[in-house]
Amino acid sequence: MKITGTMVNYYIHCRRQCWLFANGMKLEDDSEDVRIGKIMHELQSEGKRNREVAIDGIKVDKLTDQYVTEIKKSDADVEATKWQTLYYMYVLKQKGMERKGMLQFIERNKGTGKTIELELDTETEQSLVKMLNELEDYIGQEQPEMAVREKKCNRCAYYAYCFL
Ligand code: SF4
Repeated sequence: MKITGTMVNYYIHCRRQCWLFANGMKLEDDSEDVRIGKIMHELQSEGKRNREVAIDGIKVDKLTDQYVTEIKKSDADVEATKWQTLYYMYVLKQKGMERKGMLQFIERNKGTGKTIELELDTETEQSLVKMLNELEDYIGQEQPEMAVREKKCNRCAYYAYCFL
């Protein structure tokens, strides 16, 4: 199965969500948060056409000579966004396009900087490759992990599926 940036994000955010998404359960459109995020994203991208780029199954928000940029509505899960973007950097590197990473958050919840820069150094790349192998094994399993209710579940598009 082709790994996507969303799968990598979900694998860090919630492994159960990753499995459900990878195995065809895509509930994101039902989430008000996701809908608002898309609208804000579209508004921000107005007049900036051709900045969103699709390469080899990945879709990056913005690609320049120096950076691949991922834009998110909030900084609620910086770690998941970080690994998603590192994955894009890794795929681009395989294509001969080495780029630094940049995370941009439209809203700030936890005081994290609005913009974060990333480097794909050797150690990080090794960790990423290990994680991708684990992710691939995991989504090929028969069942996802059991749902465990946490704070992050309250705003999750999969909440009803997991708990109602
Ligand atoms: S509701 Fe919670 S357990 Fe279920 S997919 Fe979302 S974050 Fe994961």
